[in-house]
Amino acid sequence: MCHEGIRIASKEENAREAEEDRPLPRIAVTPEKVRVLVTEGKGMEIDWVDGHKSAWSFAWLREACPCATCMEERKADGRKAGQPKPKPANLLPMYTPPPKPASAQAVGRYAIQFNWADGHSGGIYSWQYLRRVCQCPECTFAADETTGTPN
Ligand SMILES: [Zn+2]
Ligand SMILES: [Zn+2]
Repeated sequence: MCHEGIRIASKEENAREAEEDRPLPRIAVTPEKVRVLVTEGKGMEIDWVDGHKSAWSFAWLREACPCATCMEERKADGRKAGQPKPKPANLLPMYTPPPKPASAQAVGRYAIQFNWADGHSGGIYSWQYLRRVCQCPECTFAADETTGTPN
């Protein structure tokens, strides 16, 4: 096994990576419409001012929580935003209801916050962050293309 690619980043570095790895034009991070489909339990959809459309399931958003605790946890497990925790293989499968927010609220003009049904609510999902983790085929393809060792 080769662990060459693994780099231990400090907390500050994590935050920086999530927020500033590539500057996005203002129109790309300004939502025109935000739909949080709480009643349907589906997820969130954003139409951006630049015409791009993004959609995420609540399950994905819960696993992409940008609070420091969740970011650290994911980093430690080597999980990407939105990637669920690996389930322990030898435990009986337990029914866990799919993550869903009880409510969501705007944070100033730059972010949205979810009050998850499991009680967690620390994550502030900035428009910048959300646009970066857009899950449409175009963006996920672009993300794959640019994944790799920086320098
Ligand atoms: Zn969190
Ligand atoms: Zn996209």
